[in-house]
Amino acid sequence: MPRLSEVIAALDALWPPERAEGWDAVGTVCGDPDAEIDRVLFAVDPVREIADEARELGAQLIVTHHPLYLRGTTTVAADTFKGRVVHTLIKHDIALHVAHTNADTADPGVSDALAGALDLRITGPLVPDPTDPEGRRGLGRICELDRPETLAAFAARAAARLPATAQGIRLAGDPEAYLRTVAVSGGSGDSLFDAVRAAGVDAFLTADLRHHPASEAVQHSPLGLVDAAHWATEWPWCEQAAAQLDALSDRHGWDLRVHVSKQVTDPWTTHHSSGAPN
Ligand SMILES: [Zn+2]
Repeated sequence: MPRLSEVIAALDALWPPERAEGWDAVGTVCGDPDAEIDRVLFAVDPVREIADEARELGAQLIVTHHPLYLRGTTTVAADTFKGRVVHTLIKHDIALHVAHTNADTADPGVSDALAGALDLRITGPLVPDPTDPEGRRGLGRICELDRPETLAAFAARAAARLPATAQGIRLAGDPEAYLRTVAVSGGSGDSLFDAVRAAGVDAFLTADLRHHPASEAVQHSPLGLVDAAHWATEWPWCEQAAAQLDALSDRHGWDLRVHVSKQVTDPWTTHHSSGAPN
């Protein structure tokens, strides 16, 4: 059985922590480097439900995309929800490791998994990482469709292929417009509109689009917008990452059992459609 430090070294090779954004908080949140690991759980969010799932599963390591503590804290008391997570983890010898913006820009990264879930053909990153001589790493991905399809059909594909959430899929732009190229970016994407416009794509699939950037984007051009739940756009990365760790486990002869949480931890749990406007 590998030790935590060995598994972390393998994860760090996939998503080098030094490639995370300066404001980010990636790496190991808790865990004994000498602890033996045989079950690993991948999830998007380090929340109570995921800590409980790891405990029930008997996992010794959780790998999440989102950090538990993005800013500093002065307490892990169990009457705070993050402190409760820390207590559950330590009490049950469960380590927590985070790969966030270092996984966003990796090759393959979060947006590769999103594009893969929709069977899109990737042509390159939306915002290339200038330090990558091969031009494969970076934020978001530009993709070509095998054959042109309408924005409505593309959104229906996203709704069918991404895991179900209360939010579902929102659409902006002409639903009958034909798409040949799309940009995708897992997680909050509305800081990427300049890159999306520069790429000249027909549509942009992402999450957390706010009123003003979305309104300006559709007024500015015939760009179609497909907005999914933040969690749903990042969950495919868990499966991709689990498969990567599985392959490393085989190569090292570790025999790890690698799981992906299917719990929907998107904070939005109910959606009432207010009906189609006239
Ligand atoms: Zn995210």
